[in-house]
Amino acid sequence: MQHLFSVWQDFSKRLKVARRVLLLCDYDGTLTPIVDRPELADLSEKTRQLLQTLTRQKNFTVGIISGRALADLRQKVNVSNIIYSGNHGLEIEGPGIGLVNPLAAEMMPVFRLINQVLKKALAPIRGVLVEDKGLTISVHYRLVEESKSEEVKNIFERVIDTARSLGKVRITSGKKVYEIRPGVDWDKGAAIEFLIGRFGKTKVKKELLPIFLGDDETDDDGFRVIEKHGGVSIFVGEKPARSAARYYLKSPAEVEQFLEQMIDSVSDRQA
Ligand SMILES: [Mg+2]
Repeated sequence: MQHLFSVWQDFSKRLKVARRVLLLCDYDGTLTPIVDRPELADLSEKTRQLLQTLTRQKNFTVGIISGRALADLRQKVNVSNIIYSGNHGLEIEGPGIGLVNPLAAEMMPVFRLINQVLKKALAPIRGVLVEDKGLTISVHYRLVEESKSEEVKNIFERVIDTARSLGKVRITSGKKVYEIRPGVDWDKGAAIEFLIGRFGKTKVKKELLPIFLGDDETDDDGFRVIEKHGGVSIFVGEKPARSAARYYLKSPAEVEQFLEQMIDSVSDRQA
């Protein structure tokens, strides 16, 4: 994996010749540092301005793809003319787009029930946050004492065992979080595939440059789709772990710098 700034000349050249750029970013850990309580992960004013500036570039489409619920994501990012995709791609909203995975929507009553049972079962453990995100559920255990994390896992497994064995749900994990998702074949990668199809008109597909930045395991689905389309996949993290991404940036601070440099590159072209 190469640091993106070490190949900036090449990248900048590709930006300049692309007819259309589809810039997609994960939120937590990518645009903002990971914090103890997810509700406190706020976007810096500077990053917000940079994203807003990029949405105004004539040939740019910008989107945020997150595990957060869409409404939560929209409120956190608060940029206009941008695509929001929540719940790992199960819902997508943007200029001219509105989509909720129908099978996932059907599962919502089941998820409400799982949410209630999980909350009750995990209530005795201090620091667990069970987050009802409508189409999915997150169990955050960053604030749980280390000695109790095994117990969280056991309770969690017990509660979702039946639903999982019926194929109703699937489980993914990320940074100190377990996620319960509907058992449908859809993830961030599928959402990105959909967006590439939407913005890369078949004839000029080669001229669409899709870019995706993410920091966690669930972002690998996205990286693979980006690679398949000859785009630029960027892992965000201090130590480039095993990842399907080709490039990396060390931190959300470097991502901010990346957005800024990208604006400079694009402005050169338009000057
Ligand atoms: Mg993330």
